[in-house]
Amino acid sequence: MRDGPGVGVSMSNGISVLTGGDSFRLDPRRTVSGEVNFISHAHTDHLPRGGDEACVVSTPKTLELAEHRTGRKFTPVEDARITLLDAGHIPGSAMALIEDGRRILYTGDFCTRRKVYLEPARAVKTDVLLIETTYALPRYSFPDPLELSGVIRDWVADALSTGSSVFFTVYPLGKAQEVETLLRGLPLYADEAVQAHNRIVFGDCSDWIGDMGAAKDGESVFICSSRSSLSALRPGLRSRLLFTTVSGWSMDEQFRNSGGLDEAFPLSDHCDHGDLLSFVEKCDPEIVYTMHGFAEEFAEELRRDLQIEAHALSAQRGGARRGRRRQKRIDSF
Ligand SMILES: [Zn+2]
Repeated sequence: MRDGPGVGVSMSNGISVLTGGDSFRLDPRRTVSGEVNFISHAHTDHLPRGGDEACVVSTPKTLELAEHRTGRKFTPVEDARITLLDAGHIPGSAMALIEDGRRILYTGDFCTRRKVYLEPARAVKTDVLLIETTYALPRYSFPDPLELSGVIRDWVADALSTGSSVFFTVYPLGKAQEVETLLRGLPLYADEAVQAHNRIVFGDCSDWIGDMGAAKDGESVFICSSRSSLSALRPGLRSRLLFTTVSGWSMDEQFRNSGGLDEAFPLSDHCDHGDLLSFVEKCDPEIVYTMHGFAEEFAEELRRDLQIEAHALSAQRGGARRGRRRQKRIDSF
């Protein structure tokens, strides 16, 4: 347990925040009765898999997605001390601003850049900032997502014009819907894992996104959670495919060369290093806690360059290197 200004923060079963006797449990692995449980978004690494408390603070969309992904029923509750703010990460994602004597902002996973289908996260003045640091190294400097969306559209259109089809392997929640939105109007087909999330995010989208088996022999765009979905395609369709994906990790040469990809685009659901620094400065906190990815490196940078008190929560359970590997794997959801 580390103590901020009147606030105790620790990473154990999610993030635990103690304020003058009350306890807030942020993205717990197991919900805890007697505490205020908050779920930031429905990626698997942020969802509770057990616990004795079904009442949670979250957005309606996140709870709908959470119930689909966990098979567990949640009851939404409000807490007058918590304000939910757009996180700009995936549909339903929210940051939590806790006002209980002090102002405490928990970002969860977040993105401050405007995307084709989500409002961006906005900084607010806070005393204590709990911030995710997935891409918190200077080498992660992403291009503008709207400009990059245009590049992706052009690349796909060029492929189709030469008689190829395009196969995206993407996370079924978030990335899939972003790619579908920016390619709307092209002949899109999605596998069942993606379609199940499409129905929750978009409602009935059968008029613009078909099932894999409905693909004709002409040029098509496939949005799939796994290459195993190739088996649903007729051999004639499989013969002229270009493989691609979207991920912030495609800034790394190793990632681009590892997956048999024809192309990879650095379209991310997270902040890059510059976005994170800007966000911290705008929030103007007394103390910062970093978590996930390059938590230790970013906390050190804040102490050294901005003279802000900063601590890495991830480091308490094995260091930034382990955090980086874990996030890279888990974020594939
Ligand atoms: Zn996430």
